[in-house]
Amino acid sequence: MEDTIFDKILRKEIPSDIVYEDDVVLAFRDINPQAPTHVLVIPKEHHPDAAALAAEAPQIAADVLREAQAVADEEKLESYRIVFNTGSGAGQTVWHAHTHVLGGRGLEWPPG
Ligand code: 5GP
Repeated sequence: MEDTIFDKILRKEIPSDIVYEDDVVLAFRDINPQAPTHVLVIPKEHHPDAAALAAEAPQIAADVLREAQAVADEEKLESYRIVFNTGSGAGQTVWHAHTHVLGGRGLEWPPG
């Protein structure tokens, strides 16, 4: 199993600004925020990307989405974006499935 920076964050070997944690998911602020709110939600179970997560553990995928929505509610975001970069061509850099919750500013469409 690949050991990514997010696996180290999960094991608390690297500090992070955690906004929520339970037995299934961890939510923490992105170290390089692209918006006033930029929170990452990751499953505790290791899956390399969103496609693998959806195929191998759809209930956990649903839990990640539930928590992404909870973050948006907690941050009082009226409009926001939930993004799973999947594959290097789409900007994925960490090979532990995660979603970004982005909000607090206007977000253009289409994305870059
Ligand atoms: P990706 O590009 O794979 O979709 O998203 C990875 C995200 O992880 C990036 O937005 C990046 O800023 C964030 N990131 C990378 N290393 C760290 C870290 O050590 N701590 C935190 N909090 N975020 C990180």
